[in-house]
Amino acid sequence: HHGYIEAIAGPMYSGKSEELIRRLKRAQIAKQKVLIFKPAIDDRYCGENIVSHNGSKLKAIRIHHSREMMEYIEKDTQVVGIDEVQFFDDGIIEVCKNLADGGIRVIVAGLDMDFRGEPFGPTPMLLTMAEFVDKLSAICMVCGEPAHRTQRLINGQPAKYTDPVILVGATESYEARCRLHHQVPKDDA
Ligand code: ADP
Repeated sequence: HHGYIEAIAGPMYSGKSEELIRRLKRAQIAKQKVLIFKPAIDDRYCGENIVSHNGSKLKAIRIHHSREMMEYIEKDTQVVGIDEVQFFDDGIIEVCKNLADGGIRVIVAGLDMDFRGEPFGPTPMLLTMAEFVDKLSAICMVCGEPAHRTQRLINGQPAKYTDPVILVGATESYEARCRLHHQVPKDDA
């Protein structure tokens, strides 16, 4: 069997989880041995599932570090799915490469840009390495045009450039925005 990497990227609400779940469910229907991972940091919906914003879900293994993944891979594993791949350490890049080299179909889904519009974690490298790339768009919540960016709002206001990517305990929300309506004020603005 030939292994390869498929990457699904885009902003929040672009349907990355939906698309990942769709592909993995089809692999399960084909009776292939499928493993699904997500970072333990992603507590959006708690529990063991990967869940899309439209409600579809699939059982996943939560891991804290990329090195834990190999412990779950078995001789007969055929397909590996990883959701929210941007939250993993850079070791995930080598893991995906090794799995694909070993004949496994690896499907990764994650944010390609952070709220600042800058490359997010290991996703950009995985997009480069992947045989197949799908960059999805959402709908801009301001104008209704296709949205490729994620707007971060803190107490309803655009988050500033220097706000940390991961901020625990703040009243924050995210929405999909196009290039024109994506705002990242500099700190002194
Ligand atoms: P992602 O994994 O990329 O965050 P999900 O698969 O979880 O995306 O959610 C996609 C779903 O989110 C869509 O099918 C739609 O029902 C819903 N949705 C909510 N807001 C938006 C938006 N602004 N643009 C597109 N879809 C949206």
